[in-house]
Amino acid sequence: MAYTKVFPNHYNFPKRISRLGELAYNLWWAWNPSALRLFSELDRPLWDSLNHNPIAFLHQLDHEKLKAVARDIYYLDEYDAVMEKFDAYMAAQDTWCTRECPETLNGKVAYFSFEFGLHESMPFYAGGLGILSGDHLKEASDMGIPLMGVGFIYHQGYFVQKLTEDGWQETSYYHFNFEEMPIIALMDEKGKPLTIAVELPERTVYARTWMIQVGRVPLYLLDSNVEDNSAHDKQLTARLYSNDLEIRISQEILLGCGGVRLLEKLGEKPTVWHMNEGHSAFLTLERVHGLVKKGMHFADAAAEVKKSNVFTTHTPVPAGNDQFPLWLIDKYFPITWKELGLTRDQFVDLGKQVQSWGDTFSMPVLAIKLSQKVNGVSKLHGEVAREMWNFLWPDRKVEDVPIGSITNGIHVNSWLARRMRLLFDRYLGANWYDHIDEEEIWKRIDLIPEIEIWDIRRHLKRKLINYTIDSARMHWSSGKHQPSQVIAEGVLLDQYSLTIGFARRFATYKRANLILSDYERLIRLITREDMPVQLIFAGKAHPADEPGKLLIQQVYRAAKDPRSQGRIVFLEDYDLNIAHLMVQGVDVWMNTPRRPNEASGTSGMKAALNGTLNFSVLDGWWCEGYNGKNGWVIGDDKEYSDPNEQDKLDAENIYNTLENEVIPLYYQTRTAGDFSEQWVAKIKESIRSCAPQFSTRRMLRQYVKEMYLPAMQSK
Ligand SMILES: *Cc1c(COP(=O)(O)O)cnc(C)c1O
Repeated sequence: MAYTKVFPNHYNFPKRISRLGELAYNLWWAWNPSALRLFSELDRPLWDSLNHNPIAFLHQLDHEKLKAVARDIYYLDEYDAVMEKFDAYMAAQDTWCTRECPETLNGKVAYFSFEFGLHESMPFYAGGLGILSGDHLKEASDMGIPLMGVGFIYHQGYFVQKLTEDGWQETSYYHFNFEEMPIIALMDEKGKPLTIAVELPERTVYARTWMIQVGRVPLYLLDSNVEDNSAHDKQLTARLYSNDLEIRISQEILLGCGGVRLLEKLGEKPTVWHMNEGHSAFLTLERVHGLVKKGMHFADAAAEVKKSNVFTTHTPVPAGNDQFPLWLIDKYFPITWKELGLTRDQFVDLGKQVQSWGDTFSMPVLAIKLSQKVNGVSKLHGEVAREMWNFLWPDRKVEDVPIGSITNGIHVNSWLARRMRLLFDRYLGANWYDHIDEEEIWKRIDLIPEIEIWDIRRHLKRKLINYTIDSARMHWSSGKHQPSQVIAEGVLLDQYSLTIGFARRFATYKRANLILSDYERLIRLITREDMPVQLIFAGKAHPADEPGKLLIQQVYRAAKDPRSQGRIVFLEDYDLNIAHLMVQGVDVWMNTPRRPNEASGTSGMKAALNGTLNFSVLDGWWCEGYNGKNGWVIGDDKEYSDPNEQDKLDAENIYNTLENEVIPLYYQTRTAGDFSEQWVAKIKESIRSCAPQFSTRRMLRQYVKEMYLPAMQSK
């Protein structure tokens, strides 16, 4: 079936710069600063106030400004250069894929994920999983890997966080108008919205479809907010991660089965189906179903489909895995198991997990059973996953469980501060970006004079602090906040003090309050006149996570406490924009998960790349990243049976390390000029050792060679 992409093009641009509209609809601008500046330069305050959304921006921009720049030779020079670069990128025949792995070009990867975090103007993500999916698409585009994403578009997004005066998290939701976002409506040949349908008990649910163009990679998105659905079903794709299991199973059927149907309608024929986490695992059944309808037996069809499925698990905590009680399976799948030629028990066996409270249908189990390749997201997580899923291979030893690991990475172009990039351009050689996963190139970090690194670090910290003060000022002047809240938001921050950042989801295992556990000691530590320390927190708790909200409140109360002197700060409504400012702007990035609950973590990688030093529990990626010289560890790599004991020892360790190592090093006798040379030496060591290892370039190279190619080639 043919389909059309409709590019709304009603801006009426001056002819000379008419392609700005086209550029706005390809997220390539999001990781190319020169392209982004074609928008932001036109009206910086408007650009910031619209959360950097170029479509809304172009709609609201004063048309006279466009007319003026269409005659400005300097702007036009930039415009022409960007357009030339954009065209070259989109048409490139010479990519990583063509050079190093041309056999990949014979296939096509469909990458399914429940969330995609691509840009702050499109909050369709809750945390690290979504950011990873977004980075995966951007890197696939850069490397020329034939890949497409499949997911949901949530018309209320992940929630907006606002704290009451007493630090209690309140949630409100967006009401997006997708026409005001860089999102393209998919239409059928009659010019009607391209729609797919899935059958749920006693009803059919419809979804219309959208696309986000991520460089060369399309991301297809399902949206159940259509006329033909009941009010209840319209809400299916309103928000992420409902706690209502019935909504959850309906969403996951829509993603898995609906996603497969959408690709069929689009004429896409993937040769690899990548399930990023278990939420999309029903796609396996939909594909098997297709073969059974053509006359194949279930077992043969399952074996056939399995060859081209790959699965990435992200959850090291058994209870955190997506699973459904069997009554829901009985309600949702009787027709399916009959059509597959299975009994009820045979069907349940596909996902069965025995729990202390009874059997459940586990999405990761389904995904594992029907995938050719399975991986965890760090070496340690691979070990944990082999142990966790060992019961699926009862006759194998743990080390023989066929689950590997590919450690996560970050998309360097998306996370590197512009000034750092300019610095690397000067010292690492013109084509350093083509070699980011090679250790050799990063040895050249030594060539950079310490003072140049320090100047950029100071600039980035100032930028963060200016942001916190501006947003506090805005909240204050709009009457939204009390004076104590304005202090908690960072108006007293000081750009010369050692600044520690902690920002991520406020899930309890991440222990945001660990550093508060000996409050008196913390206050003494951060308020020393000769060596003051600042702590900046940010992050959201899931709206149904009461313990998580209590953690936020505890931090917030400390921030408002006069005894902390305005040196503890909580930034509201953590998002991709604040994430950028923080990983780039603080001096130290602290991460305190209860080991081994953090599958990988990626925010520390973003920090390291920008010269922010890691201070983290030896969990996830940091087990592989830490080399004794490039940051600090919290606690040890032992296993604890008593979490309270673990928390106590880890907290003690945080204070000791800060007091004896981190703080003195930062404030060390300032020899040449105004900074600690040994601190900058550590920054160099951190960039040199982490940058080549933890990029999506390295990660995708592994996915291609270890997962995608074997799946494409198995016949
Ligand atoms: C990178 C990132 C995360 C992941 O943070 P972790 O510390 O790895 O859990 C979450 N949210 C946002 C906005 C991010 O940019």
